[in-house]
Amino acid sequence: MQNKLPLIIDPIKAAQKKLDYVGYYPMQSATRVDSPKSDIECSLSFYYDEQRLCVIAIDAKITLEQICQRCFKPFITEVHVMNKFSPVKSDAQAETLPEHYEPVLMNEFGEVDILALLEDEIILSLPIAPVHDSKHCEVSEADMVFGEIPTENEKTNPFAILVSLKNKG
Ligand SMILES: [Zn+2]
Repeated sequence: MQNKLPLIIDPIKAAQKKLDYVGYYPMQSATRVDSPKSDIECSLSFYYDEQRLCVIAIDAKITLEQICQRCFKPFITEVHVMNKFSPVKSDAQAETLPEHYEPVLMNEFGEVDILALLEDEIILSLPIAPVHDSKHCEVSEADMVFGEIPTENEKTNPFAILVSLKNKG
């Protein structure tokens, strides 16, 4: 078991050595993830399956802050991503993969950017319109459906002042 997580790795060599990693990527390293509140806790396993396909198994967790799209207040949420990837050299090769593996493209040196892959997974797993758990949200479901735009108090109507000025003149 290795404790220093790789940023970029040759997955073929790692799978031949059956490498496993457990550790943390510092939150500052996930530059494309908005408002992270924890480091990324991550375990990685590299191996060959029974079909002799190279596999990268990722299991990662991060806590981050999102803005509720109902009440516009921030809230803390934990994201858990779990996925199995198989490194490929081309789109054609990606199409030959069994469904239970996601293809991940290797660069010209046969390497995979694990941190970039992880950031993609975290970003993809986030809801498009994040909302609070309804019991924590300050705007209730009923308000969303039946709510009305509050009418302005007539006393603050700026035209009333203009009218009174005009009348004085
Ligand atoms: Zn809310």
